[in-house]
Amino acid sequence: MSSTSYRIAALAGDGIGPEVMREAIRVLRAAEKKFEFAVEITEAPVGWAGIDAAGKALPDATLKLCRHADAILFGSVGLPQRDPALPKEQRPERAALLRLRKEFDLFANLRPVKLPKCLSHVCPLRPERQGEGIDILVVRELTAGLYFGPKSTEEVVDLKEAAPKPHRFRRATDTMVITTKEIERIAHVAFQNACLRRRKVTSIDKANILENGVLWREVVTHVHGDYPEVALEHMFVDNGAMQLLLRPSQFDVMLCENTFGDILSDEAAALGGSLGLLPSASLGKTRASGTFGLYEPAGGTAPDIAGKNIANPIAQILSAALLLRHSFKLEQAATAIEAAVEQVMAAGHRTADIYSPDEKRARKVSTTEMGSAIAASV
Ligand code: NAD
Repeated sequence: MSSTSYRIAALAGDGIGPEVMREAIRVLRAAEKKFEFAVEITEAPVGWAGIDAAGKALPDATLKLCRHADAILFGSVGLPQRDPALPKEQRPERAALLRLRKEFDLFANLRPVKLPKCLSHVCPLRPERQGEGIDILVVRELTAGLYFGPKSTEEVVDLKEAAPKPHRFRRATDTMVITTKEIERIAHVAFQNACLRRRKVTSIDKANILENGVLWREVVTHVHGDYPEVALEHMFVDNGAMQLLLRPSQFDVMLCENTFGDILSDEAAALGGSLGLLPSASLGKTRASGTFGLYEPAGGTAPDIAGKNIANPIAQILSAALLLRHSFKLEQAATAIEAAVEQVMAAGHRTADIYSPDEKRARKVSTTEMGSAIAASV
């Protein structure tokens, strides 16, 4: 047994959060036993669970727990029937999730999309468009760019068109700001991840129009010098959006600015067939113990299916695998969980979101059955 004990703050949140978190913890425990490491998992309320327990979407005790943890395994927060009653800044996604991203300077968002061959029927693309298979990692800058630059809305009075009275209108401005330092650190994340994969980075920009894109391209090319074993190509974002649908198998790692990454990662996610399959990681600084990160499913709280034991726990389970890989450097355990997921799917286990009666060997299973099968396979 390794003497290191890793600390995980497990924040299940709302809706299906607690159901899928239970299965992810079950799988983590199986991996812990198999690979002989030790994790200390402490659960705490967040989102509406936090508001109901302690009056805040991110209770002080939950934040304190996260500060003492090595990584956060996050479920999902927010309930559409309750959120509108709160002022925007107190709503769970903003008050808890965005607050945590800011608190821990989580600047790199990783969204892997992998479509196993046995699930090609849940992909919206025809099989011939899926090519040799879809296995893409979108690396998105998360703390700069268009979403965080100066913004304003102002009243404008145009005196030139004054007759018969001044023409008044409102003008909204958002600014895309990024520094060389911010581009460098996200580019390193992309190249390092490419080294663990098929060694290709497609850097997405709009260098033909935006100054931002020119700088992005220049800095990414410079950082590439440290990774001669990785192939780099540049692609304009509009073409990138099109290529994802025409020939997704050409992509390994897609490196994107914040807004471009937000849009393209959702487009790529659609190719994965179900939100219930897609994990994500938001990484911060590297400490002596490893890289601090928050790991969560790409989907939300799915209130339409919450409490029915039918949600797909795979996104949460694969998020736990990413946590082991990126925060604890437990590559073998992470790979074993990913392999167990593929094995269980190849054996025909399907939660409702990925079930099709046309698939001969498929068997519809509950959230708990899917989690147990993956844990047993680990
Ligand atoms: P959603 O992702 O919760 O659901 C969209 C669709 O995907 C639903 O049909 C749902 O049943 C399905 N789905 C999602 N995850 C699934 C899973 N694991 N298994 C099977 N099916 C799954 O998006 P929404 O309905 O727009 O949002 C619901 C709530 O979640 C809102 O309050 C929203 O603000 C919140 N939300 C939170 C996060 C987060 O915490 N990071 C992200 C997105 C949405």
